Amino acid sequence: MIRYDLTCSRGHEFDGWFSDSASFEAQQAQGLIECPICGDTNIRRQLACPGIPVKGNRRPEPQPRPAGQAAQKAPQAPAPLSEGEAALLRQFAREINTLVRERAEYVGDRFAEESRRRHAEGTAAEQPIWGEASPQEVQELREEGIEVMPLPPMPDEKN
Ligand SMILES: [Zn+2]
Repeated sequence: MIRYDLTCSRGHEFDGWFSDSASFEAQQAQGLIECPICGDTNIRRQLACPGIPVKGNRRPEPQPRPAGQAAQKAPQAPAPLSEGEAALLRQFAREINTLVRERAEYVGDRFAEESRRRHAEGTAAEQPIWGEASPQEVQELREEGIEVMPLPPMPDEKN
């Protein structure tokens, strides 16, 4: 089972469990996934984002190293985030979400089309927008030289 963060066309955020990505796509195409808040069936996955730790996420258990194995065999992965660093990332995610919601215009699923229009008019910098785009749309926009930034998910307000 995999968990997807989903969003409806009105911007409600929720999550859903699917056996695999193909199963999600089939249910999405048939309109079988409903927003629990408004019943909308125009559902998208939220944009992929860097792994911002959310309180309550389980950390992977450290693997004990088998006896006798060389300690420095592979390049070392970065050390896990400290609680302070994780809090900093959550703060950043919260601030950028707040700023975007206050200062950018919400265009929903017209994000790709609005981005192209503003890019063509040269007004992208003065009139920032935010909305929903599929990973494919993001890829296409980037190939056209339009800068797109994924928005990290709003961290749990209780943190
Ligand atoms: Zn909704």
